[in-house]
Amino acid sequence: MKKIIFFFISITLISCGAGKKSTENVNEKKVGFAAEINADDLKEHLYIFASDILEGRKTGEKGQKMAANYLTAYYKNLGLKAPKGHDDYLQIIPKEFFKEASKASSENVVAFIQGSELPDEILVISAHYDHLGKKGEEVYNGADDDGSGTTALMEIAQAFQVAVKKGFRPKRSILFLHLTGEEEGLFGSKYYTSHPIYPLNNTVANLNIDMVGRVDEKHKNNPNYIYLIGADKLSSELHKLSEETNKRYSQLKLDYTYNDEKDPNRFYYRSDHYNFAKNNIPVIFYFNGVHEDYHKPTDTPDKINYEILAKRAQLVFYTAWEIVNREKKLVVDKK
Ligand SMILES: [Zn+2]
Repeated sequence: MKKIIFFFISITLISCGAGKKSTENVNEKKVGFAAEINADDLKEHLYIFASDILEGRKTGEKGQKMAANYLTAYYKNLGLKAPKGHDDYLQIIPKEFFKEASKASSENVVAFIQGSELPDEILVISAHYDHLGKKGEEVYNGADDDGSGTTALMEIAQAFQVAVKKGFRPKRSILFLHLTGEEEGLFGSKYYTSHPIYPLNNTVANLNIDMVGRVDEKHKNNPNYIYLIGADKLSSELHKLSEETNKRYSQLKLDYTYNDEKDPNRFYYRSDHYNFAKNNIPVIFYFNGVHEDYHKPTDTPDKINYEILAKRAQLVFYTAWEIVNREKKLVVDKK
């Protein structure tokens, strides 16, 4: 662990006084904060997070605990607060909750930025950090699944924290939620939504990031894309906000193929956001599609497109920014 902890010493935050908050100034600043999310940082984190040392991060096992330590050390160093009652940034899930799916208790990792004007309204940004572990001597590194989402979430949190230090605290609160037990059956999100740290009826949305570092066959000639799933299912406002934000800042091609109810893959039901959607919380699931290394020991960090990963993480950051800083809470107008 020493090596990993040492790594954080290199991360520093620059802080200075509050800026003027004219709309134009905010927009300009926002682009600067988004630039905190960059390919080099993502790469540095992911090469550690998806290394053999973490043994494939299997729920309840040593590698997952090391991964949790890595995340808590990161947030501590960034100066993010832990939610009240979770001083060590952990939401502990007892072994019994997993039934046979885990050998031991496991942990969601949680970090928090309190909103300035509407602190009781919460945006949850999530990514699962567990993976499949080892089979024999073979490590399932899970660089894309979901090391990519994990490192994206870390960088998004850092961008928001830099904004806070410069006087741009979000109006609403943000919970950065690193989920465990996803591969075993969405246990981390099931546990969070049945034991929410902040009331679900004040949870305004969930942005869930699961596999965002690769380029699928369909887009190999134009990697500037991301699949969005769920955005229009509960809130037409969220879909509109997401589209407008992308048009203005990111200009990625938003592919809705898997958002189709008739799509046989049914991805809407297959990652952690679904436990939020079930509770009537609007969600967006960010996803790069499938590839030949999915759930194989060959899902390694050398195959990640870090430039695209950064652009996708920036899109999530911008979308989150709009959700937490808009005047009115997102309206749920669909069933
Ligand atoms: Zn996954």
